[in-house]
Amino acid sequence: MTMTSLDNRYPDEAPEGGYAYCEPTPAPAPAMRLVNHDLAADLGLDSQWLRGTGAAALWTGTQLPPGTRPVALAYAGHQFGQPVAQLGDGRALIIGQLTDRDGRLRDLQLKGSGPTPFSRAGDGRAALGPVLREYIVSEAMHALGIPTSRALTVATTGETIHRQFGPEPGAVLTRVAASHLRFGTFEYFAHRGDTAALQTLTDNAINWHYPDLRSLPPAERPAALLQRVVEQTATLISEWLRVGFIHGVMNTDNMTISGETLDYGPCAFMDGFRPDRVFSSIDARGRYAWNQQPRIGHWNLTRLAECLIPLLDDDEDAAVKRAETILETYPAQFEARYNRVLAAKLGLLDREDEVTTASPEDGELGERFLGLMARHEADFTNSWRALAEGPPDSPAQIDHMSQWLGDTDELRHWMADYANRLERAGVSESRRRLHMDHANPAIIPRNYRIETAIEAARQGDMDPAERLMVALRSPYQLPEASPWLRSPPSADEVVPATFC
Ligand code: AMP
Ligand code: MG
Ligand code: MG
Repeated sequence: MTMTSLDNRYPDEAPEGGYAYCEPTPAPAPAMRLVNHDLAADLGLDSQWLRGTGAAALWTGTQLPPGTRPVALAYAGHQFGQPVAQLGDGRALIIGQLTDRDGRLRDLQLKGSGPTPFSRAGDGRAALGPVLREYIVSEAMHALGIPTSRALTVATTGETIHRQFGPEPGAVLTRVAASHLRFGTFEYFAHRGDTAALQTLTDNAINWHYPDLRSLPPAERPAALLQRVVEQTATLISEWLRVGFIHGVMNTDNMTISGETLDYGPCAFMDGFRPDRVFSSIDARGRYAWNQQPRIGHWNLTRLAECLIPLLDDDEDAAVKRAETILETYPAQFEARYNRVLAAKLGLLDREDEVTTASPEDGELGERFLGLMARHEADFTNSWRALAEGPPDSPAQIDHMSQWLGDTDELRHWMADYANRLERAGVSESRRRLHMDHANPAIIPRNYRIETAIEAARQGDMDPAERLMVALRSPYQLPEASPWLRSPPSADEVVPATFC
């Protein structure tokens, strides 16, 4: 199909004052650069049409289907710990929703489509580099099995954008997400003391993401929603840690109610492991470092809970007590999920198995391995994969691991404890490998690969990006002698920082 019409749920369902109608700014010379054919098929879009001229006009916002009602959404948020009462989509518009194969509505958002009433000083545009980074990293995240917004298209506008590193082609990303309800959306109305709007947002969140909660009495739903978001956030962050991902800007306006990863700015997957690793050039104090993410998740959930107080109970003290009780479940929930992540990475259980719980002992064993990795700044991805390559009690395997982690007694002790734990758990070598190969990706979007793809794209060559995407679609498969496994081969290819 082509696209003849697009419905938009926000004007009909979102609270009054939560959005502004806004038309995209036409692009002078729209051109398609990347199309995500898997996602297009999932949304019922015709792949052939997506390559054509009409498609470029649409996906740059130059010509939308008749009757489209694009909106910019209002939100607030805490940025690096400080409250900001008014943010909002300053360079993005939601043009509507499509129904995916599973019958779920998915937002279509054009990012970089021109100024909106929320733009403040910005130009409303996006440059090809960051647009491509979001495309690559969000799709890699999806292939890793981690909840995330997706990327449907990259189109260039024909304009030149001026950013800190000089002129770049202007580009528009089509982002697809379960919704764009953020913690910051609730904060926006909480700042205004608009309880009716908070109730509407709560209804939206439940209808769109947690419809099973509709079976509860209305008065119970806000607490149940908060509990659900606590769970989803704990799961999401444990999954980020699993793959060495650093979001980079965990401001509350970048946290979704659906539990999807959102807003790929100065994010990165680590090469060499350091628990306090930061990539964002704007995160000077390491607030959003890899190992701070669980704690920040809790902090952000506390900001969300504060917004929901008026809905939790008519009596304010009782409402606060209720919020606290729910928030207090977060550390234990995160811990349980993270223990499972580490147990799966060690091959002690199957990542897909939702029932088996991991013991704190497994978590500790995983932490000790991370400690070994950290002391040698060993490659996060390759170290875990290497661990699967031979039985942990074989001298050859211990020798193999010592290349990465140092030839130390600490390593030998750990390998012996690991072998012992596997034996007690009754996990066979073949089962261990199977579990590990599902929990430990072989191929991640390494920064130096992304930079290479971006540099080529700036020169008009999309091939490196296309090839990288093919590799990233199967992150757990280990192609023979794959060049995608390498950590940065030379020091000058290590990317020390990423930018929005
Ligand atoms: P972010 O850091 O991506 O979460 O963005 C923070 C805020 O800055 C959001 O309100 C954005 O809409 C806004 N913003 C970022 N870049 C631009 C731009 N080029 N033009 C207008 N607004 C922008
Ligand atoms: Mg943002
Ligand atoms: Mg951003």
